[in-house]
Amino acid sequence: MTVNLLDYDLEGLAVFCDRLGEKRYRAVQLFRWIHQRGATQFDEMSDLAKSLREKLKTTAHIKAIDVVSQHISSDGTIKWLFNVGGGDAVETVFIPEDGRGTLCISSQAGCAVGCRFCSTGHQGFSRNLTTGEITSQLWFAEHFLRKHLNKDERQISNVVMMGMGEPLQNYSELLPALRTMLDDHGYGLSRRRVTVSTSGVVPMMDRLALDCPVALAVSLHAPDDALRSNLVPLNKKYPIAELLEACNRYLVHAPRDFITFEYCMLDGVNDQVEHANELIELVRKYSSGGVWCKFNLIPFNPFPASGLIRSKPEQVKIFAKILSDAGIVTTIRKTRGDDIDAACGQLAGDVKDRTDITKRIARQRMVMIKPVTDFDTQVRET
Ligand code: SAH
Ligand code: SF4
Repeated sequence: MTVNLLDYDLEGLAVFCDRLGEKRYRAVQLFRWIHQRGATQFDEMSDLAKSLREKLKTTAHIKAIDVVSQHISSDGTIKWLFNVGGGDAVETVFIPEDGRGTLCISSQAGCAVGCRFCSTGHQGFSRNLTTGEITSQLWFAEHFLRKHLNKDERQISNVVMMGMGEPLQNYSELLPALRTMLDDHGYGLSRRRVTVSTSGVVPMMDRLALDCPVALAVSLHAPDDALRSNLVPLNKKYPIAELLEACNRYLVHAPRDFITFEYCMLDGVNDQVEHANELIELVRKYSSGGVWCKFNLIPFNPFPASGLIRSKPEQVKIFAKILSDAGIVTTIRKTRGDDIDAACGQLAGDVKDRTDITKRIARQRMVMIKPVTDFDTQVRET
């Protein structure tokens, strides 16, 4: 069995090269070929000695996860479904906006946290993605976009770990993938433009602060423990007080001077005036002065099994105004890619059906892959 080089960050690749008797600068060259040029064949790597290329052919390969389908929204959002084997599929979403391109990446097949409002949570946990499977999503999307837009420069400027899964419950595989995203020889993304979103795995927030402090988003969803435990079961283990203390510790290392709180707006559940007022109290209680957090209100994306309803737009506006009037920067998330189910919590919601993955993959291929010309037009329009 040869190793997949997408599984390594630069340090890992240097260790691998060392074992082959090769110097570190060879690892840098190899890393640049893989991530900056999108190479998959060692023979393409013209500045590597032929002897090294031959050694690599017998010990290693470069293989991204298999794309099953590609959906393109009228707003330019693209959703890819990847088959990760064993009946599991994960999704990646590209969101083009003025002056930036954001990629939303999955970290697990399914999720063990089981939030009530999340369709991934309703599927249950299947398995952790490997570093290579996490990195693959960026590798694939970046080089796909460059090729089909006929551009040499970087297309993806921001990464959010907001796809399927709880990234901080897959920490050891996540970390090298984050390092590859940030590495100047890899994707060279700024720490401020790579965001890990977590439902609040407190000990791992502390680890991330030390190992790789990228921007942090915390899924809060409720102002008190009773309601939060009901919506996000992990709250029973790491209640709000511990979570907010961990947020404050994270800020010491964070690349931005604020944490983003995500708040999924659920009709009649967490969207009332008193909830907003309680949030203000909470934010003040944990403030050491000045702005230390922002709120991002996410209109709930409904799915039948949840039994929950999206807050009314007027209510979301009222809620946002109460927070803003109290001096808390608050945004309401625009839903993108509605026509292709690319919104938060809708990812691969209907994919995991172990009995019949092959049939469904075949169906997806037939119906959903759009011609490249169509894709080009739509991306340019945005
Ligand atoms: N597990 C991590 C990251 C993935 S979920 C976390 O929970 O933060 C990314 C974001 O999507 C989270 O803020 C989550 O609360 C939100 N989300 C999940 N399901 C949703 C839904 N049905 N509608 C709107 N937002 C949802
Ligand atoms: Fe898991 Fe995040 Fe969904 Fe909760 S919201 S079930 S933590 S993916």
